[in-house]
Amino acid sequence: MKAGAHKHSHQKQELPALTDRLRRQSRKITGPRAAILEILRQHPHPLTNREIFAEMSKGSGDLATIYRSMHLLEKMGMVKRFDFGDGAARFELMAEGDDGHHHHLVCTKCSEVVEIEECFPKKTEEKIAAKNGFKAVTHRLEFFGICPECQR
Ligand SMILES: [Zn+2]
Ligand SMILES: [Zn+2]
Ligand SMILES: [Zn+2]
Repeated sequence: MKAGAHKHSHQKQELPALTDRLRRQSRKITGPRAAILEILRQHPHPLTNREIFAEMSKGSGDLATIYRSMHLLEKMGMVKRFDFGDGAARFELMAEGDDGHHHHLVCTKCSEVVEIEECFPKKTEEKIAAKNGFKAVTHRLEFFGICPECQR
């Protein structure tokens, strides 16, 4: 990894390690929370609450429970929220000690999502910060286009 790059990895995390993180923060591993973590673990891309709900087995939680759980998991730094500009919050699992900062390339035809590792050099943010007298400048950015499959 380049010096000054944002720290982010897409390594698949183990479920026991995830539930252990919940436990360490004195949070109960409720059925829905464990189910949500397991679903997110199996999807390397951000999911909406509705997509998580659709993956959940019947009876293991309703949509309201998922909304509440996502809010809590986000506060705990276990998931990161992404916004693709369509009004639906998307969540992705965050590795421990990771700031989760990365970008996505989204197909506007089929909604296929590609994880993007490229990012602005930290220097750009430092320059913007210095120029405007800001501190702790960061950014959000998602890319959109047409995937190879949809070009056929
Ligand atoms: Zn991602
Ligand atoms: Zn596509
Ligand atoms: Zn970035």
